[in-house]
Amino acid sequence: MTDHAFDIVILGGGSGGYAAALRAAELGKSVALIEKDKVGGTCLHRGCIPTKALLHSAEIAENVRDAAKYGVGASFEGIDPAGVRAYREGIVAKKYKGLEGLVKARGITVVAGEGVLRADRTIAVGDDVYSGTDVILATGSYSRSLPGLAIGGRILTSEQALALEEVPARVVILGGGVIGVEFASVWRSFGSEVTIVEALEHLAPNEDLALSKGLERAFRRRGIAYSLGVRFATATQTDDSVTVTLENGTTYEADYLLVAVGRGPATAGLGFEEAGITMERGFVIVDPELHTSVEHLWAVGDITPGLQLAHRGFLQGIAVAERISGLSPTVVPDVQIPRVTYCSPEVASVGVTEAVAIAEHGADGIVSYEYNLAGNGKSEIIGTGGLVKVVRQKDGPVLGVHLLGDRVGELITEGQLAVSWEAHPEDIAPLIHAHPTQSEALGEAFLALAGKPLHAL
Ligand SMILES: Cc1cc2nc3c(=O)[nH]c(=O)nc-3n(C[C@H](O)[C@H](O)[C@H](O)COP(=O)(O)OP(=O)(O)OC[C@H]3O[C@@H](n4cnc5c(N)ncnc54)[C@H](O)[C@@H]3O)c2cc1C
Repeated sequence: MTDHAFDIVILGGGSGGYAAALRAAELGKSVALIEKDKVGGTCLHRGCIPTKALLHSAEIAENVRDAAKYGVGASFEGIDPAGVRAYREGIVAKKYKGLEGLVKARGITVVAGEGVLRADRTIAVGDDVYSGTDVILATGSYSRSLPGLAIGGRILTSEQALALEEVPARVVILGGGVIGVEFASVWRSFGSEVTIVEALEHLAPNEDLALSKGLERAFRRRGIAYSLGVRFATATQTDDSVTVTLENGTTYEADYLLVAVGRGPATAGLGFEEAGITMERGFVIVDPELHTSVEHLWAVGDITPGLQLAHRGFLQGIAVAERISGLSPTVVPDVQIPRVTYCSPEVASVGVTEAVAIAEHGADGIVSYEYNLAGNGKSEIIGTGGLVKVVRQKDGPVLGVHLLGDRVGELITEGQLAVSWEAHPEDIAPLIHAHPTQSEALGEAFLALAGKPLHAL
């Protein structure tokens, strides 16, 4: 056994782990970053970046199909899966190279290998042992399935769906959450027949009802089929197809079934319980400052309960590095973290839904306002429908901002500032938005809630 001592040892080099490493190194700490696959983790290699590249290819396909509407001559000849793959892989490779360079430039020691936490709070990687004054766990998450539903063959998780070398003619997607609706959007744009099966009553079920319903209407118009409120029962496959049966007896036949029912914490067999860490359903329980129940042991990212988002991992990684270094970063609750689903139309939100606001303040204690993007010039120009919904406490601050429409993900930062800084619509109303932009729709909602609507009644 060879011992290696550092100020900080980080297990897992995804969004949470590498952000902690970069910030800790910046603050003068010696850092070992242990990664069994590739630094960048799920987000860079199998998640955010490659799926958003796919969605961009999908957007181009839609634009080419619609070109005549804008007076541009073009004809859609089809999707070239090899070309889409080359574009997607090129983006990932470039970002990976940049990240590797950054990690190296900050003097971080990257250890290639699978690490296991030992009871003495060190990490073993093969015959080597890494010890740190502080240890940060950031091992991320994996695609879950349902009991009795084995992944393999024509039954895919998002990892295999991403690597698919063909455009499937028919596909069933189990799960109408973020990953499910993003893949539905891509495949529909590529020409597939798509059916989403969601056991809850709505697509994007965690969002405000106005967004879920708006997304359902938009998907229906795009020819994306969905079954809501009925649970999956079984799936059987042959060499050529997969048959999916629901609990009400409905069956669907498709080329592939994508299982997108959520992601579980990647913590099994890593020695966490044995080291005395409090766990719940596989998640590492942390306090608001991201300490585990063991001193000098911290956890960040998807292994902690809450939103599974890359930027939450960045935020948490930075915060832990700063706390270990004696700083006092602000504790940011999940409700202040922006959420974007990048299907077409996009869904973006921050703060609480109207239903939660009512539960917290009473129906008489809140006011909400919806502005239809049909009234927004820029949205009309780029050909998107959708809506902006703002929920405020009566005579009080903005509690939630909810957006639906192509490109609205880029607008959510303003909503985040409003919610996090507890701005009142009256504070924001005088800050006029550039014309013509989609951000004006948000401005209209703030103006209306401040009692002085401009382009609305
Ligand atoms: C299809 C898809 C699309 C997504 N799109 C978005 C999006 O658009 N926006 C967004 O914000 N989020 C998105 N996410 C979620 C995002 O990818 C995750 O929230 C984020 O990657 C979590 O970061 P993390 O550091 O917790 O874990 P991960 O990124 O999973 O990193 C964990 C790392 O730890 C390594 N590891 C695990 N165990 C060990 C071990 N024992 N030893 C050494 N190394 C180990 C793994 O190899 C991995 O590299 C998406 C996810 C998926 C699957």
